[in-house]
Amino acid sequence: MERDQAIFNLIADELKRQEEGIELIASENFVSKQVMEAAGSVLTNKYAEGLPGKRYYGGCEVVDQIESIAIDRAKQLFGAEWVNVQPHSGAQANAAVFLAILKPGDKILGFDLSHGGHLTHGSPVNFSGKLYEPHFYGVVKETGLIDYDQLEETARREKPKVIICGASSYSRDWDYARIRKVADEVGALVVADISHPAGLIARGLLTDPLPHCHIVTTTTHKTLRGPRGGMIMVGQDFENPWGIKGPKGDVRTITQLLDLAVFPGTQGGPLEHTIAAKAIAYGEALSDSYMDYIVQVKKNAAALAKFFVEKDYHIISGGTDNHLMLVDLRNKDISGKEAEAVLGKAGITTNKNMVPFDTRSPFVTSGVRFGTAAITTRGIKETEIVQIGELIDEALLSASDDAKLDAIHGKVRQLMAQFPLYK
Ligand code: PLP
Repeated sequence: MERDQAIFNLIADELKRQEEGIELIASENFVSKQVMEAAGSVLTNKYAEGLPGKRYYGGCEVVDQIESIAIDRAKQLFGAEWVNVQPHSGAQANAAVFLAILKPGDKILGFDLSHGGHLTHGSPVNFSGKLYEPHFYGVVKETGLIDYDQLEETARREKPKVIICGASSYSRDWDYARIRKVADEVGALVVADISHPAGLIARGLLTDPLPHCHIVTTTTHKTLRGPRGGMIMVGQDFENPWGIKGPKGDVRTITQLLDLAVFPGTQGGPLEHTIAAKAIAYGEALSDSYMDYIVQVKKNAAALAKFFVEKDYHIISGGTDNHLMLVDLRNKDISGKEAEAVLGKAGITTNKNMVPFDTRSPFVTSGVRFGTAAITTRGIKETEIVQIGELIDEALLSASDDAKLDAIHGKVRQLMAQFPLYK
């Protein structure tokens, strides 16, 4: 077969873009070479429906070992009792959880997308808002912090079956114990989606949801720095609270229901190449060097947030406890859409984002989200993160000056050349 140069040339272009730019998209990271090698390995050839030791295909003796290692490492990393490493993505993990424990039309209570939540937590354009009856809590306007009073009031009034916490653009820690308390009162299960801060939680830099939440889901490619994928975990709540039955009409444990909801409920064959890459990433996340990395991610985010505050940018909630921050640009006379485009011209990649109580549409928005997970993998520390803050400020102040943006782009290339990506 002839090499498909059209595609490989484009992959080379993408590598150059990643190498030369400043990557501040909060949900992205740069995986290690060994994670990439596993993700591009012969394991992509293998079908393995089922679970290790219980497959619907022959020839699974090798992938069984790989998937078992992935499960064991994930349990060790998060202190979980039970794990399913097969979800193809974060959205698939959440779909499987809802399928396992809810019936169509059941009520769910999630964090409002426009305040920082995720589409899969009940948005009307997503399966979660179409199949179930979504209710939402948000943040307090004055503080930007989760409105736990509103969460409790809504839970008591609506009596949802599930309360889902976790976010895509919330820069503070969560009070899982408080959410569990009201959930127990109204008979709901708590699902924590820790896709964003998973790495910080794994290494003890944020509150651990597993002792408080019945089910925890995550993506594996953000702060966790693994391949694109998802995972579901359970800490100690194995009991099936509503006597939900399995396919044969018998009552199953929560973890049995979750396994069935991943396969055959929402997926076919697991991606064993991705699972091998997950296993490697979990191993890396258990290392001392990852601990240094994730501590630096948090320090860099704090330093960048401090810089922005000093420059009169409005950070929602006033700062950050994790790897990201949401900047409200309404006092800077530029929309999120414009800011994303201007920064893009300067070689700085970010994404526009709604801010709580935004009056602009999701396509325009009044905010921009910055995260430090990827840039820290490049070796950036506090000194350079402040330089990056200065470049961002300079670019936003030169929004209509293409020559100036070109000059900033030059400085961006120069800075990143000192921090090679794949040496
Ligand atoms: N949950 C949260 C909180 C997220 O931020 C994301 C992705 O950004 C997802 C779920 C979905 O993950 P994926 O894109 O892998 O489906």
